[in-house]
Amino acid sequence: MRLKLSAEVIKGDLVERVAELSGQNLSACYQCGRCSAGCPVVEEMDIVPSEVIRLLQLGQVEPVLDSETIWICASCLQCASRCPRGVEFSSICDALRAIVLRKRLSGSVVDADEVTRTMVSDAPQMGVVGALRKLNG
Ligand code: SF4
Ligand code: SF4
Repeated sequence: MRLKLSAEVIKGDLVERVAELSGQNLSACYQCGRCSAGCPVVEEMDIVPSEVIRLLQLGQVEPVLDSETIWICASCLQCASRCPRGVEFSSICDALRAIVLRKRLSGSVVDADEVTRTMVSDAPQMGVVGALRKLNG
């Protein structure tokens, strides 16, 4: 893969967001590969954990957001226990999944004025309250 890199790309907003949401220091990873070598589901992944982190270090968030890997990680923490740099890859996957889900929901809104009495009485109360909290503009 040929990458066009610049300081703006490497320090992009989305990379910062991943670091913030995950609480992980992406630059701590020195690419030893121990996380990928120890992952029990690595064969199902299209980008192995150490490569995901390398792509993030290079500001390449989109290919990672499109990957199967972030949905396949089982959060077993095996990689974290093997990482000499204390990187918790499952937290990075949590952050990436959250970004994908928020993107998918970004066009969705619930207008409180359009919620009818029938909807309120038929739908689970927690569902209605949750949707209003999450999706109202
Ligand atoms: S937490 Fe995810 S990436 Fe790490 S070893 Fe488990 S399944 Fe693999
Ligand atoms: S084990 Fe840790 S330092 Fe090694 S490649 Fe994986 S995240 Fe990076």
